This record gives sequence, structure tokens and C-alpha cells, in this order.
Amino acid sequence: MMSAHRAVGYQGILAAEVGQTTVNEPLSNHNSWQIGGPADLLVEPENSTQVANVMRFVQHYQLPLVVIGQGTNLLFDDVGVRGVVLKIGARMDYIDIDGTRIVAGAGTWVPQLARMAMCAGLTGLEHCIGIPGTLGGLVMMNGGSHRHGIGEHVVRVTVVDKDATIQRLSAAECRFDYRYSALQERGAVVVEVELECPHGTPGAIRREMLLDLRERRRKFPRKQPNCGSVFLSTSAMHESVGPPGKIIEEAGLKGLRCGGAEVSRQHANFIVNRGGATSADVLRLISRIRSEIRKQLGFDLRCEVRYVSPNGEISPADRMADRL
Ligand SMILES: Cc1cc2nc3c(=O)[nH]c(=O)nc-3n(C[C@H](O)[C@H](O)[C@H](O)COP(=O)(O)OP(=O)(O)OC[C@H]3O[C@@H](n4cnc5c(N)ncnc54)[C@H](O)[C@@H]3O)c2cc1C
Repeated sequence: MMSAHRAVGYQGILAAEVGQTTVNEPLSNHNSWQIGGPADLLVEPENSTQVANVMRFVQHYQLPLVVIGQGTNLLFDDVGVRGVVLKIGARMDYIDIDGTRIVAGAGTWVPQLARMAMCAGLTGLEHCIGIPGTLGGLVMMNGGSHRHGIGEHVVRVTVVDKDATIQRLSAAECRFDYRYSALQERGAVVVEVELECPHGTPGAIRREMLLDLRERRRKFPRKQPNCGSVFLSTSAMHESVGPPGKIIEEAGLKGLRCGGAEVSRQHANFIVNRGGATSADVLRLISRIRSEIRKQLGFDLRCEVRYVSPNGEISPADRMADRL
């Protein structure tokens, strides 16, 4: 573990090169479940040069690095992260629209991007209007809704690689697939995204977005901290057993509780923090849901939510839940 003294030392070295840094920052302030212990060092860069400086720094000092956006798809451990957490957020938030081309910073708030596209009369991002994360996180996860993924409109992604070089990757190089991109294995930081969205009918775009937001307000728990859908919902799964929310509900698991974590009574594919939930509570609940569904349907539910270990490794949360 990095001592407080060492963390302050690292902060002194980094501060000159990367803008805002915070020592011992509670990660519960940086994810939508409001769970997680402190990060030794949290860094919020303003541009790709500062991101490259952070990459050089962690390589030089051999420190674990975790890249995050808004933390709306992440479960941090109760003991936090013994290393550097790099947050690509509001400081790297910009949107430029030229014709049908959109260039946006990775820290851009996705609903704002969708709204700007609508105002410019561009179609294709309607399904993103209710996704509460950053563009970088969305591209990394190839997130989306209504069976769409952001990858459908990506032309190029600018990343800072582990060796601190800046690379421009084509959509083909990102190998987008259902809730997957090759970026997940590359360990690179997304800093900018170029999208191509065709012209559409502004009224129709707006109507679709309003419909989506209305649906979300009706279906999803809004008042209790959560991380969106916990389990993956693939089309193969829909055909064989149905969507995760439905099968968890039919298995009688709504309201099942481990400590402060509860299967939402509103939507069974959500786990909500009823107050004071720990990462161990969430992982135990994931494990109980998985084993019950395995027992009842012989089906192995996989997690969309990703667990961040204290040494900075990120993996689907079911892998960690299985180890409990
Ligand atoms: C209420 C609610 C509803 C949601 N609805 C949807 C939905 O409809 N569809 C959907 O797909 N998701 C949904 N989500 C999940 C989540 O919002 C998305 O996955 C979102 O795109 C994650 O963005 P983020 O900035 O929060 O990323 P984070 O959760 O911070 O990170 C997610 C992953 O991306 C990586 N990452 C983040 N930023 C970068 C970067 N700049 N460079 C490299 N790696 C990066 C992280 O390391 C991590 O592996 C929902 C979540 C909530 C809470």
C-alpha cells in the first residue's frame, strides 16, 4: 500500500504536469452506487498532453492505474485503489459539430452530446439520451440502448496508449461488438471521439428521445443509488430465457437483500444501495442471484457492471463475486 507520505510526494511531482490531483480521495464520491474506499491519488487532467504525462508517471513509478469517467458502470472495492485513478470528466468536455461530423472530448456528458446532436438535426444518438456517463466510458463499453451501441456511429477514437503515445484508431480497429470494444484490452485512455451522424427530422429525433426518457423514468429506480443494469442482456439470452430483469423477477428475487444492497423492487436487473451498502454486499448479492438463476434455469448470468480491485484490475463483477 502507498503510504500517505508517499502519496503526497507523488502528488507534488504530478501536480506540476497534470492539473488537479487529490490524495486519499473517497471513490464513493465518484460512482453512481456511492460505494468504495479511497484512491491513493485521483487525477483529473484537462487535455491529452496531461493524460500522456500521467501515463509516463505511472510507468516510471510502476503504479497501478485505473481510468474512469462518471463511474456509472463501476463497483469500487471497500478498500479503494492503491494507485492512481485517472478521471476523464468535465475538464475534458467539449463538442464540435461540422455538418454531419461530431468531434467530442472523452469527458463529454453523454445526454448533453445527444441533445447537441438533436439541436443540429443529426440522428443516431437518440438511444443515448438517458445514459448518465461520459463519452469515453460509453465508447469503451460500446454502450447504448434499444439494441444499439455507440460504435455504430464512431469514425475514429483518439487514445493515449500505455507508452504515452497518442494514437488515432479507426472504428474497425476498435472492433465494436455487443457491450465490447477492443479498447477494453488495450489499456489505453480514450481522449477524443469522432462520430458521423446523418441528418434526420428534428421533430422525430426529439420525440424518440422524450419517449426514451419517459420509459426510463417509469421503469428504473431513480431515487436510490444504482449502477444501471447489473447483468448483460444479449439477444441469445433473450431467445433462450428472456431478459435478465424478467428472469430475476420471475425467480422471486425482487427485494432480496445483502446488507445495504437490494435487488430493486422496481426493476430486477438493478441493484440499489439502500444506505451504507459495501462492495462486499453487492458482490454477495450478485453471487446469490447468479446461483439462484443457475439452479432454476441452468443459465449463467454475466455482469455488465465492472469491479475495480484494490490493485487496479477491472473485470466483470461476476468474476469477483464467484471468488467470494
Ligand atoms: C441509471 C443508469 C442507466 C444506465 N443506462 C445504460 C444504458 O441504457 N445503456 C448502457 O450501455 N449503459 C447504461 N448505464 C451504464 C453506464 O452509464 C454506461 O456504461 C456509461 O457509458 C459508462 O460511462 P462512465 O463515464 O460512467 O464510465 P465508467 O463507469 O467510469 O467506466 C466504465 C468503463 O470504461 C472505462 N473508461 C471510462 N472512461 C474511459 C476513458 N476515457 N478511457 C478509457 N477507459 C475509460 C473504465 O475503465 C471502465 O472500464 C446506465 C447506468 C445508470 C446508473
